[in-house]
Amino acid sequence: MFKNLLLSSFLCLLSINANALESIRSYEVSANPMRMNQIADRFEIVKKLAGSYEVYVKEDDVGDFLKLAPNAKLLLMNTQAEFHSDDKAAQLNLAKYRNFSDVERDLNTIVTTYKDLASLETYGTTKGGRKLYALKISSPNKNRLTNKPEIMVTAATHGDELVTVEVLFSLLNEMLAGYGKDSRFTKMIDGRDIYFIPVVSPDSFEVRERYVQGLDPNRSFPWPENINNRTVDCIQGLMDFSNAHHFMGSLDLHAYGKLVMFPWGYTESAPSPKDEVLLKDLVQSMARDNRYTAGQISTTIYIAKGSSADYFYWKKNTQAIAVELADQKVPAYNAIPKVVTEAREMMWTFLEHFN
Ligand SMILES: [Zn+2]
Repeated sequence: MFKNLLLSSFLCLLSINANALESIRSYEVSANPMRMNQIADRFEIVKKLAGSYEVYVKEDDVGDFLKLAPNAKLLLMNTQAEFHSDDKAAQLNLAKYRNFSDVERDLNTIVTTYKDLASLETYGTTKGGRKLYALKISSPNKNRLTNKPEIMVTAATHGDELVTVEVLFSLLNEMLAGYGKDSRFTKMIDGRDIYFIPVVSPDSFEVRERYVQGLDPNRSFPWPENINNRTVDCIQGLMDFSNAHHFMGSLDLHAYGKLVMFPWGYTESAPSPKDEVLLKDLVQSMARDNRYTAGQISTTIYIAKGSSADYFYWKKNTQAIAVELADQKVPAYNAIPKVVTEAREMMWTFLEHFN
């Protein structure tokens, strides 16, 4: 009995370890459009290159992938390598980034510091036992108690995109510190209820992994042609949370690529003509300052099925924007202020758009 228990806990440890070290290869592919569509159905196309695409492939799926794209060029053996590197400098850099308990601590600090503006909600618990947090920013301004637009800002849907969490906290703190001192931030907060979700996928964020329970969280939402898409707990939680609200706008922060994009991702068709004009205008104004590439997801990168932007737009007609920040997922820690500078005016423009 004891031996069995010992053996099963050993096996369990082994599988956790194997899971945490699952590597993702990066390939460059140039194929005909039909073949690219087949590739996009199963694999994540992360970047448009000059005449080709960068595609992420899990180690286990390499065989299947190479059947579809025999001429693919291997770019990186392991896109997660920086997280498991023995290099001291790389480890030191990683250690400076917030982990999940730092996030919890900082959320609680905000709530204590800004009692009148900030409140912390949880909308579920993950399989790993971590809470799904949403920080609500809302002022008690008597002039506008009803009909404030609700807006949602999310980060770390992919648990390895650490810079997104740092940018979210920087701008959130800036905004709160400016309330009552700077008319722009005072108006920004008085006019809206803003929900910040700093870590959409806490279990994968904690181990700095892109996928959770073997799935890509940002391909795990249903979309109009697949209303029963298989999902993961943290995404189910986020869907329930968003369905319980009526978000006029949502901003999902990813890294990297310097892009700001609107739905659809699952098809090259544009959203309704009216929405296309509105959304195009929104992403172009968001990119005015940082010169990010602005456009529709499917035509700016490639077809991506099951993303948050499509889901929120589809379900509640939310003006759902996806951003790819920076040119790295985990830049050198002292380069974060530069990414924050890139994101600043883009974030304010987005929030001010809803009134
Ligand atoms: Zn991402």
